[in-house]
Amino acid sequence: MTAEAATTVTAATTVTALTTDRTPAGSTANPLVAATAAGHHRILTGDRPTGPLHLGHYFGTLRNRVELQSRGLELMIVIPDYQAITDRDRADRPAEHAEDLVLDYLAAGVDPERATIFTHSAVPALNQLLLPFLSLVSVAELSRNPTVKDEIAHSRQSAVSGLMFTYPVHQAADILFCKADLVPVGQDQLPHLEVTRTIARRFNDRYTTLFPEPQALLSRAPLLLGTDGGKMSKSRGNAVTLGATADETARLLRGAVTDPDRHITYDPEHRPGVSNLLLLTALCQDRDPHAVAAEIGNGGAALLKRTATEAVNEYFRPLRARRAELAADRTVLREVLHAGNARANAVADRTLTEVRAAMGTF
Ligand code: ATP
Ligand code: MG
Repeated sequence: MTAEAATTVTAATTVTALTTDRTPAGSTANPLVAATAAGHHRILTGDRPTGPLHLGHYFGTLRNRVELQSRGLELMIVIPDYQAITDRDRADRPAEHAEDLVLDYLAAGVDPERATIFTHSAVPALNQLLLPFLSLVSVAELSRNPTVKDEIAHSRQSAVSGLMFTYPVHQAADILFCKADLVPVGQDQLPHLEVTRTIARRFNDRYTTLFPEPQALLSRAPLLLGTDGGKMSKSRGNAVTLGATADETARLLRGAVTDPDRHITYDPEHRPGVSNLLLLTALCQDRDPHAVAAEIGNGGAALLKRTATEAVNEYFRPLRARRAELAADRTVLREVLHAGNARANAVADRTLTEVRAAMGTF
């Protein structure tokens, strides 16, 4: 498959996103990631500390982060702990979840010496950017964000908090404080990226040019489905985690939603459950999902699920072994976060000084 730039349209916003694909039939070359690496300098992306990472994170963004870092881009990873209280009253053990995320990153191949992994609550200057940034967007723009609407629908709260509506602006601060120019994300983040780009543009127009307009980088799996057929999510009880055992993986995938047609075909629009398992298998084996479907033929959903389970367990065996080794010493995880927070604070202080100068404040 060739690399391509695609325009992705969501219900309320339009954002130009790069999509990436892997060359089928055995090659691990990833042309778009290679091309992207040449044109960009700093990546920022992150994951809420609401639970362990799952296959959607890995194929949606994490694998691209590792690849881009290995190509020399600077990698910043935010663990947005304030964002954990957008859809629930209290975050459940946010510090412990943050350490678990570091565990997943290191097991997946992120180099902690070169990456800055930080929790945004520990970076006051970053949070202060929220105030001028809020002045750059309208209430109407905030309230028509489709991802926020979907999250409200799945929220555990009876009332919607102000933080829920404004967190995409907070996310703009997460991205712009370090002037990241590339953001590897899943599809649900595209409306937020558009908010970030709008804020950067309006700040630059109103004051002085300070911020890049960052580009989204989508993977071949911008929306991996969970076992219930909805977006695989940490908070929706439908995920296969990176650290799951082989038996857990088999049990979870056995319960995945498919359809009764025994003839297996790759048709994401009409057969989302079946196609999702085919894509998952294809990603693990670096193949084309149509070829996986042809191989299964009339084997039905049971064979498809066994095939997907074997592919996932085979692909993730080394990552899971590394994860188990790293889990033995949690002080390392805390040290990574302390060092990351110190680095992020230095960057945020510099940016806030520039923002104050641009706005003419003290
Ligand atoms: P939560 O349910 O707590 O919101 P989540 O599983 O949605 O958790 P996030 O921390 O919100 O995970 O998202 C982190 C990053 O992973 C984002 O870039 C998001 O787009 C990406 N991502 C999350 N789920 C998927 C998925 N199913 N497929 C592809 N990318 C995903
Ligand atoms: Mg989410």
